[in-house]
Amino acid sequence: MGTLSPSVSLIPREGSRKSYRGRLAPSPTGLLHIGHARTFWIAARRAIENQGTLILRNEDLDPQRSRAEFARAMIEDLLWLGIRWSEGPDCGGAYGPYSQSERRAHYLEAWRRLRDGGFLYPCICSRKDLAQAASAPNDAETDDEPVYPGTCRDRKDAPEFMEPVGANWRFRVPDGEEVEFADLNLGRQRFVAGNNFDFGDFLVWRRDDVPAYQLAVVVDDVASCQVSVGLRMESSLSAGNSGCPGNPNCRTPLTWTMGCGATPCGYPLM
Ligand SMILES: [Zn+2]
Repeated sequence: MGTLSPSVSLIPREGSRKSYRGRLAPSPTGLLHIGHARTFWIAARRAIENQGTLILRNEDLDPQRSRAEFARAMIEDLLWLGIRWSEGPDCGGAYGPYSQSERRAHYLEAWRRLRDGGFLYPCICSRKDLAQAASAPNDAETDDEPVYPGTCRDRKDAPEFMEPVGANWRFRVPDGEEVEFADLNLGRQRFVAGNNFDFGDFLVWRRDDVPAYQLAVVVDDVASCQVSVGLRMESSLSAGNSGCPGNPNCRTPLTWTMGCGATPCGYPLM
């Protein structure tokens, strides 16, 4: 953290090269901590080094956990750190809105496209079902969601749903397909898709009618914000189970489907 000093200002230059677009994407579910500061500092520095654009995105999807006061605090804290962005919830921009809670129409459109393409199925497994499946011996990594055992993946009733509400929606990952990509910081990364491999059918929409992080972040990075480099903490990659497949930085089935081209860049979680 030696380079982290509020007296040094990270202000992207005017007339920045269009091709590089990086983002800061904090969730207003608490105060920023030193790990966030480091990740955001690196993201800001990279944007400057590449004469690029830096975007601030407020990831306030979860109405139960997000608070307006934390959103205000994160902007204050980032400014205090000396980080400056040129598009965000506070200053607007061409790809707004920049708060995920205001972007539901975009996520719904993506859900419809994926449903129509046969990529999704409604999952009615209870938390208890999933918890029991998680105790299977090959599920050592349970950072986030356990690998889904695939109980509902053969359901064919997706087209009958006009709206996602009422079921958990999962993306059918191609079993056994290798996912490989080059990470700017970590080098070559490889995962195998499938419920018996590195990650299973991950959530794209929650039963309580909230789009899942995995869907929202890809939609925002690709379809709307045109993010070209996604900096993230390494945990979201090593989690693999649910962190990787929807992560916009991975060349995974969802990002292929959505046409993502963001370059991944992972840093160890502090
Ligand atoms: Zn299920």
